[in-house]
Amino acid sequence: MNDQATMPSHNKILVVGGGIGGIRAAMDLAESGRNVVLIDKSVSIGGLITQLDRTFPTNDCDLCTLSPRLSEGGRQEHIDLLTMTEVKKVSGDVGNFTVTLSQTPRYIDLEKCTACGDCFKVFPECVSFNPGLDHRAPTCMRYPQAIPQAYAIDMHKCQDVKALENVCKAGAILPQQTSKEIELEVGAVILCPGADVFDPSGLDHFEYGKNPDVVTSLEYERILSASGPTQGELVRPSDGKKPEKIAWIQCVGSRGLQKGAASYCSSACCMFALKEAIVTKERFQDSIETTIFYMDMRTFGKEYEQYRERAENEFHVNLVRSRPHSIVGDEATGGLDITFAPDDGSPSITETFDMAVLSTGFKVSESVRKMAGTMGIELNAHDFAKTDEFSPVATSVPGIYVCGLFEGPKDIPETMVQASAAACLAAKATQPAVHIDEDTLVNLPERDVSSEEPRIGIFICDCGLNIGGVVDTQNLAEFGKTLPQVAVSQVVGHGCSKSSMDIIHKTIVDEKLNRVVIGGCSPRTHETKFQDLLQRAGLNKYLVEIANIRDQDTWVHADDPEAAKQKARHLIRMATSSVKNAHPLIEHSLPMHKEILVVGGGVSGMTTALSLADQGFKVFLAEKAPQLGGLAGRIKKTIEGRDVPVFMEALTQKTLQHPGIEVIFNAIIVDHTGMPGMFKTGLQIAPQMYYRQIEHGVTILATGALQNRPETFLLGENPAVMTQLDMDTLLEEDLDRIKAMRTVAMIQCVGSRCPENQNCSRICCQSAVKNALRLLDINPDMRIFVLYRDMRTYGFTEDYYLEARKRGVIFVRYEKDAPPQVRPEKDGIEVTFVDPILGQSLALSADCLCLSTGLVADDEASEDLAMIFRLQRTGEGFFLEDHVKLRPLDLSTPGFFVAGTAHSPKNIKECIADAQAAAGRAQTLLAKNSIELGAAVARVDSNKCAACLVCVRACPFDIPFINADGYSEIDPAKCHGCGVCAAECPAKAIQLMQFEDDQILAKLDGLLERMVA
Ligand SMILES: Cc1cc2nc3c(=O)[nH]c(=O)nc-3n(C[C@H](O)[C@H](O)[C@H](O)COP(=O)(O)OP(=O)(O)OC[C@H]3O[C@@H](n4cnc5c(N)ncnc54)[C@H](O)[C@@H]3O)c2cc1C
Repeated sequence: MNDQATMPSHNKILVVGGGIGGIRAAMDLAESGRNVVLIDKSVSIGGLITQLDRTFPTNDCDLCTLSPRLSEGGRQEHIDLLTMTEVKKVSGDVGNFTVTLSQTPRYIDLEKCTACGDCFKVFPECVSFNPGLDHRAPTCMRYPQAIPQAYAIDMHKCQDVKALENVCKAGAILPQQTSKEIELEVGAVILCPGADVFDPSGLDHFEYGKNPDVVTSLEYERILSASGPTQGELVRPSDGKKPEKIAWIQCVGSRGLQKGAASYCSSACCMFALKEAIVTKERFQDSIETTIFYMDMRTFGKEYEQYRERAENEFHVNLVRSRPHSIVGDEATGGLDITFAPDDGSPSITETFDMAVLSTGFKVSESVRKMAGTMGIELNAHDFAKTDEFSPVATSVPGIYVCGLFEGPKDIPETMVQASAAACLAAKATQPAVHIDEDTLVNLPERDVSSEEPRIGIFICDCGLNIGGVVDTQNLAEFGKTLPQVAVSQVVGHGCSKSSMDIIHKTIVDEKLNRVVIGGCSPRTHETKFQDLLQRAGLNKYLVEIANIRDQDTWVHADDPEAAKQKARHLIRMATSSVKNAHPLIEHSLPMHKEILVVGGGVSGMTTALSLADQGFKVFLAEKAPQLGGLAGRIKKTIEGRDVPVFMEALTQKTLQHPGIEVIFNAIIVDHTGMPGMFKTGLQIAPQMYYRQIEHGVTILATGALQNRPETFLLGENPAVMTQLDMDTLLEEDLDRIKAMRTVAMIQCVGSRCPENQNCSRICCQSAVKNALRLLDINPDMRIFVLYRDMRTYGFTEDYYLEARKRGVIFVRYEKDAPPQVRPEKDGIEVTFVDPILGQSLALSADCLCLSTGLVADDEASEDLAMIFRLQRTGEGFFLEDHVKLRPLDLSTPGFFVAGTAHSPKNIKECIADAQAAAGRAQTLLAKNSIELGAAVARVDSNKCAACLVCVRACPFDIPFINADGYSEIDPAKCHGCGVCAAECPAKAIQLMQFEDDQILAKLDGLLERMVA
């Protein structure tokens, strides 16, 4: 990584903002061979997520999960990182922009700074910042894994510059540094500058700023965080006492309730409040009372409804639907009196809490607004970058794309999707600058350790409080020293931070270690990082073993430190025993097929196919129907009023006419073999039913979902009852019938958020609002009643909900346990429901009952595909992503991606973003000319093989065969490393490399405390 723009100017892409969105976009571009300049105005990259403690929906410690990504961002040779840098001017056109950047001086030489912290110790006033609840530190290293790993100096605060210079042994202080302007030629720009959070200082009724126990969500995250002001101890800011009752107040600064608030919904706040309440219960005492005051609980993402259910039922988080109107500090008790009006119309209630957390929403900062103005970017009514429903990450300026919070309020998974989509589009504007197969890292030559006795180094990571808060890491390291063949055992703080990695690197070299054990977190997220470290230190990367103390021990036994200590010792002993038997392995590689198979020809499938074909890739688009279009082919209008059939027709024609796309209609997938980069998929094609096999490197599933049509509320029995999709068609095709209707009732959550389908279908609330507004456009006198459980018009769709209410649509809430009842009438339907405010049952006669039935997975089809492709699905039958936040569209089988509603319910705009993102992710593989196979392949010992055929029969991929010499042979290039053959072989003639029997048995011995020599 360089902190200067040193790459050749052609083919560069500028990414503005190094939050999670910017990092993802930069990484995708770099992996697909583009040169990137990533700038951030802050001292380090990471953005908002570096302030968070854990993140929903998996409640990972975010920095722990994402920091390998962050440092990969720093590691990528094709990314030039410029911190403390902003855009001053942009001119030119797509493919040919000239950008002027302005960089604030850091007064530190990044090449020399070792982040030792000496300057910080001696001159804290000009290096550190007040680590209170401040979340945008100006000069410090904001978190242990910060990138770049370097301090920044506020030279104006320094009283003795000479002394400061002298304190730095590395000679890294540069007092003469000045601001500078940098001019760049770039092909495209991606904007991901994020957003600010609403400042509630003006809200006197909540006493924010006056009473220290009223904090914002971001401040609460700082309190929970191990790198925060209380080192992760939950204490009340006013007096340091442990709180027993905490309240969250939703929609502060969003949904237009308070002074200066925005009218839109900030989309992520309901989930982050639930997360904060769950983490509070999980990490601290379960007895802490947590209460969330909310208007509508908007848990609309994939499986987010189950998250809410868990919060309520498993963690006993109180969810109170109401609008607190004031918080008043009670001097006598030191508590906070929160007064709220229950939504059943009963008189206000006052309850005392120890702390209140204001769930503040997002707003675009003044500086980002100005930057957009400089670039000529059109903003929407709320000052976010204006995008089109059919082009979700393109701004009004061709060649400038947007992702993340600046496009609209959203969470991490959606930010990641948009970032990959923006990267895909920006890549179109430039050509790959480099072949990226070569390992560009500087590694020491690999040392031959085959004749050496094991010399093991154990490095214990404290992971902040995640490990260090539960077990005594020093004591664990001392224990490590007692184990055989251990040469070094020490604590290394945050093992994945650059400074700790440097220490491990140096120790490996200095101490001539030949095996390494990391006592830290999950190998799933961090193994590659430590393997890379070994390579850099001249060791074969397979000589490291990770003991997952965090996930398997300190997280599980946080409340029982003694048990955690014992288990940590077991885990370290097991890893040490196993690594002794590890030996250097060789990785294999194969040439890469550049063709892509896209399954499903709806809006997502066609968009992803076009995105790839436009970049010169050959795409096979397999559609099981005789035409393209899918479900979007049946939708007439979007909520913004865009004409879907016109868009779909253009998309279809473009797909059919594109020379790089071969559409195969009536195609059913019947078999599949191979591995990423060289798949073979068999299709059965109707009506002739002939078989065709396609060779391809990547597979993208865009098989969509089905409109739910549950047999309920007289659907299918009574002509007055229809779904929102039927209504969408009626609105275009039978205006006379619409004009004749006097009353329309709509029921939300039909077939969603129920035992048969636990999740929210996401699109139904906006569909109902859209159709209600269209009905009123045609028939302004119509009475429309929408019976709902929570109105989930997230983001800017809240504007349409507001408009519907203004235009007289009546929204009435119903309880899950008391759904509306329907009865046929002569010319319509009678709908009976309980009005929660009146507390009475009401009946209305409707000419039409419109059911918001949402989307369900095409269970049968997705089950077949999951079986053939060996993919995982959710309980509802949607394809399961590999990692909700890091790889939201990558499936767990490498080389497979998912886009659109095959992943989970979404609207057309979101499907298009998905499709572009899946194409972007696919390009990161397709850019490579060879496939790295890793080393975990099965190996046959011909001396032991009896050619019994058990492996030939057992292998799910048909790889082993009996060769001419009469024993089993397994081609390492084809082996998937599943280990089935090794487990089945009766003669123990097959070993799975990296997981050999002696390693596993040594681990067990370690567990049983019978140490092997
Ligand atoms: C309290 C809270 C809790 C949350 N919890 C969760 C959660 O648990 N799970 C989840 O999925 N989401 C959560 N979110 C939302 C999540 O943080 C965002 O979705 C995500 O961080 C957005 O990433 P981004 O890259 O768009 O923006 P950011 O993370 O804000 O990054 C923007 C970056 O751009 C830089 N920048 C800004 N302006 C400029 C400029 N002019 N020039 C150069 N650089 C600039 C900034 O310094 C920053 O580094 C939470 C948000 C909050 C406020």
